[in-house]
Parts: sequence; structure tokens; C-alpha cells
Amino acid sequence: MTTRLSATSMPLAGVAMPAYDPESCGAGIVHIGVGAFHKAHQAVYTDTAMGLAGGDWRITGVSLRSADVASALNPQDGRYLLMVRDEAGDSARLIGSIAKVVVAPAEPDAVIQAVASPETRIVTLTVTEKAYGIDRATGGVDVTHDVITHDLNNPTTPKGLVGFLIAGLSRRREREAGPLTILCCDNLPENGRLVRRIVLDFAERVEPALAQWIARTVTFPSSMVDRITPATTSQTLQDAERLSGFSDMAAVETEPFSQWIVEDNFAAGRPEWEAAGALFVEDVAPYEKMKLRLLNGTHSLLAYAGFLAGHETVGEAVRNEALRAIAERQMQASAATLPPVPGIDLDAYRAELLARFANRAIRHLTYQIAMDGTEKLPQRICAPLGETLAANGDACAFAFAVAAWMRYCLGVTDDGRSYDLQDPRQAAIAARLDGVPRDADAIFDALSALQDVFPKELAGDPRMRGRVVEALSTILELGMAEAIRVHARRQV
Ligand code: NAD
Repeated sequence: MTTRLSATSMPLAGVAMPAYDPESCGAGIVHIGVGAFHKAHQAVYTDTAMGLAGGDWRITGVSLRSADVASALNPQDGRYLLMVRDEAGDSARLIGSIAKVVVAPAEPDAVIQAVASPETRIVTLTVTEKAYGIDRATGGVDVTHDVITHDLNNPTTPKGLVGFLIAGLSRRREREAGPLTILCCDNLPENGRLVRRIVLDFAERVEPALAQWIARTVTFPSSMVDRITPATTSQTLQDAERLSGFSDMAAVETEPFSQWIVEDNFAAGRPEWEAAGALFVEDVAPYEKMKLRLLNGTHSLLAYAGFLAGHETVGEAVRNEALRAIAERQMQASAATLPPVPGIDLDAYRAELLARFANRAIRHLTYQIAMDGTEKLPQRICAPLGETLAANGDACAFAFAVAAWMRYCLGVTDDGRSYDLQDPRQAAIAARLDGVPRDADAIFDALSALQDVFPKELAGDPRMRGRVVEALSTILELGMAEAIRVHARRQV
């Protein structure tokens, strides 16, 4: 049996090792949501920064739900292999920045303690869009969200993200452990401002004085993160073992490209992430908007249309010429809604994105990207669509993505296979579609009434309705694969 990877492992030649002694560095960051993306992005920047500039910045990971990631990383002393997949070949690197992972349901007090510890100067987050429990109408917490309700009623024994942050911050204030930075790395617009708002709103509801302390002591920089990171599969683990010579249950695979644009507003210092390539700017908003609309918006289109046309991966979907033409049209229309982005040539950015999507060495599943559509559509598709209409533009370039999502909500492929929507609003979607005939107008009416997905003025705009119903009718009539061909030929 192959030996398990650990701090003392000497992997095979060709695997790059940490350029510092991880065990001699203290912890300075708590990361909540240790998924594939964190291991391929922030943990890697931190590993590089500690290698180049030192510092006590190791990461204490927190899993709010499953124990899997702790069972994978803790027996390996936090070590794992990062495999960078390129069409020219894979490269591998051992990452040493994660010190340990704490599982919240098993050790809730350890999570609160970690946030409250004076050693901790930054809390980073990648918990997916739905974990924040945002009320999109008010920007505050959604008091109908079951975890938010639980945590508001039980602030010292929380279960969810905001509840743990508040319990940790409350103890931090008691202990006078000093200022802290909370850095959101999820794909949400103006993510720092958004998290600040929900944290303050929650605190206001449990103890207004705590809200005032947080407003004075904690900063919430926004950040734009980018590195396409598919979920780890058994193939990832097998390839990692082949490359390192050790069994590694926490290996992760990713693409060569990586980008991190961060608002430089840290309350208690930070690693020298710029040494690892992060860009610190005053205003992240233009970069975030660019990435959400061009990368993520196109990803969503490719996911819904691609999945239903039988393309398992984004690479396959974007190599379908007709779907690629629809994607290019949507990208162009999205780019037209953007303000100038400092230092970025948008045409080159779009071309680079298409090349990244087509990377044959990466298997990013359309089904994975399709999950949580109700959380993703507003900022990726509805926002640029609404702005296009407000400027008297045409909804056509976005209509196929909306129609493809509506078709996806039916939960069954053209050849009759059912799939799970994996969406926090799937009960609401099912209720809206209950008894609705297989008719584009009826489906549009049912789903466009989901108000936190489609703002009222957008849902009621006949220009959007006309274009989406037209695309959805074609999809229902011809099936997705043929509808893609027909829609790509359609002149705008
Ligand atoms: P993942 O599934 O590997 O990890 C998701 C993490 O979020 C896990 O730790 C999980 O426990 C936690 N989580 C999920 N739902 C939760 C809930 N309801 N409450 C609390 N915690 C919850 O996914 P990932 O690939 O690591 O991506 C995570 C996030 O990172 C994405 O949603 C996105 O916002 C951001 N991101 C990912 C990528 C990528 O390519 N994977 C790129 C850019 C940004």
C-alpha cells in the first residue's frame, strides 16, 4: 500500500516543495469553506508569499458542514498536491500553507475560538454564494433562511457562516484581541461590501453595540478571484499519487491561469500576496464586474445549454461551434455593459477566456457549474441584461442563457433522463412549475416571477419576454442540440 502524504514526505523528483518550513510558521488566517477552490487559489498565494517573504500566515481551515476535508488534510499535516493541468502537460507542487482543518458541527467552540484568537488577523471565505443567507431585496440577512433563523435565535451556538462570524467577533471583542479583516473570495458582486452589510445587519439584530464595535474594528475588502478549479475526482487522486509517489486524499487540480485582485484595506496586516502575483487596487468593482459577466456569465450559458445538449464538460461545450458563437455574442454584449477596466484589454480578455474554457487538460463539469442557478443568474446574466435594456439595447444576446436555464429547471433531459437541480430554491422552482404546461410562455411566466432572480422591472419588460420566449420555444420544440444550431444562425 502506498504511504500517505505527510509533513515528512519526500515526493518524487519534479514535485516543487514549499520554499519555507511550514511547521516553523505560526497561523494568521482562518479560512472558512476549504473546498477545491481555496486549495488552488488563496492557499497557493499564501504558500508562495510565505516562501518569498515569510510571516506567520498559515491557515486554519474551517469546514461548516462535512468532515471529509478534515479527514483528508489532517492526517497529511495539511499537505496536498496542487496539479496544474496544461495541454502541454501537468506540473505538480506540494502546498504547505494549511496547518489544520476544524469541523464546525463537531467542534463549534474551536471555530469561535479561532476567529477570536489574537493570532488570527484575517478570515477568508469561500462558502459558495448560497451560504451567506442574503436577502437580495434589502441587502441584509434573509430572516426566512433556516440557518440564519437558527443562528439569530441561538447566537452562541451557531450553525451557519454569519452566525459563526458573529460569535467569533463577539468573543474577540471580549478578549480585546484586536482588529480583523474578513476577506470574501466568493463570486459575488462587491463581495466585501455585501458581507459587511449582512454581518452588521445580523449583529444589529442580536446586539447593536457589537455591530458598532465591528464597524469600527473589522474591515471587509472586496476581492476578485479567478482560477478555474474543477471538483477533485478519483482520477485527480490517482494522478497525484503517480506524480508524488504518495497517497494524497486532498490533491486538487486546476488550470495554469490565476488572478487575484484585492482591495488594499486590511485592518491587521496581511501576507505579501503581491509577491505571489496578487494585484492590490483601490477599487475592485470594475474587475469583479468584468469577471462575473464575462467569465461566470458565459460559464452559466455553457453549463445550461451545454449540459442539455449532452456536453459533459465546459471544454466540450465551447468546442461546439454554434454554442461558442452564442457564447461570443453574449460576451460581446456583456462587455458593452462594462466600465473601462484599468490595465485590461477586454478583447484580449475575452479571447483568453475562450482559450481557457477550451483547455483539454481540464474537465470542468457543466453539471457542477449549473448548480445554484438562482444564486448565480442575478449578477451574471440578469444585471447586464437589465442594463442593456435600460440603454435601449437588445436582449437577444442574453436570451439564450435565460431560456437555457429555464429549460434546465424542468429537471429532465431531451432523452428523458431526470437530474437533480441542486439549487437552494428548487422547492420554489418546483412549486412554480407544478401543473404548468410544456409551453414557453407558461414556463417563462412561472419562473420569471422568482423575484430575487429577476427584478420586477426586468421580468415585466416585454423586450426580454419576447426574446426569451422565442429562444425557449425553439429549445422546447427542437431539443437543445438543434436549438443551439438554429439560434447561432439567427441574425440579431
Ligand atoms: P467546493 O464544493 O469544493 O467547496 C465549497 C465549500 O463551501 C465547501 O467547504 C462547502 O462545505 C462549503 N459550502 C457549500 N455550501 C455551503 C452552505 N450552504 N453553508 C456553508 N458552507 C457551504 O467548491 P469550490 O470549487 O471550492 O468553490 C467554492 C466557491 O469558490 C464558489 O462557490 C465560488 O464562489 C468560488 N470560486 C470557485 C471557483 C472554481 O473554479 N471552483 C472559481 C472562482 C471562485
